[in-house]
Amino acid sequence: MKKNTVVAIDGPVGSGKSTISRKAAEKLGFIYVDTGALYRALGVFFEEKRIDFNTNVKVDIRFIDKEQRVFVDDTDYTDKIRTPKASMLASAVSAKPEVREFLLELQRSFAKNNSVIMDGRDIGTVVLPDADIKIFLTADAKERAKRRYDELILKGTSVEFDDVLKDLEKRDYDDSHREHAPLKKADDAIVADTTGNTFNESVALVLKIIEDRL
Ligand code: C5P
Repeated sequence: MKKNTVVAIDGPVGSGKSTISRKAAEKLGFIYVDTGALYRALGVFFEEKRIDFNTNVKVDIRFIDKEQRVFVDDTDYTDKIRTPKASMLASAVSAKPEVREFLLELQRSFAKNNSVIMDGRDIGTVVLPDADIKIFLTADAKERAKRRYDELILKGTSVEFDDVLKDLEKRDYDDSHREHAPLKKADDAIVADTTGNTFNESVALVLKIIEDRL
């Protein structure tokens, strides 16, 4: 029997990781795991409870109608995690080594028996260092901010472009400079720059990188 295929996709904020990965996984029949959602859900949970992170909490991912949902202590947090505030909470909680360690096994478990595309910041470097294919997805910062801005506006969130750009630059800086598992390209990752691409062009680029190596 053919071994399962494991694809790690990392990159900065708004590089299109999740939308591109979701589409590519759908085309390949792989499962897609969005690891940022775990940090987001934990960030929102601990802020809501007004307590510090501790490991007495239960986090899990469930696939409902093929969509990933994140549960913290059996409550579904998925609909609360896509706000600018949740982004900053996620970034803060993700700098804690004990949080990263806590989420490691859960993330790795998805790559054991499934063909998977997993995206995040440290997938190719720390979570799945033996991934079959590693991609570092990036794009010009202004273009990434514009995509994120359009996404938020479409959802009816009231935001200013300059604030989105500032938040994005801060989050990238913090994610790249933290001590534990910072955002960085794995030595053996292929860089995919999506600046100027349409969504479909970016999906095609990622699919080509994967299919060339299958
Ligand atoms: O990818 P997304 O923007 O949803 O991630 C939210 C935050 O979670 C990131 O800014 C980063 O701080 C953190 N994160 C991480 N490692 C991952 C995925 C996300 O540190 N593998």
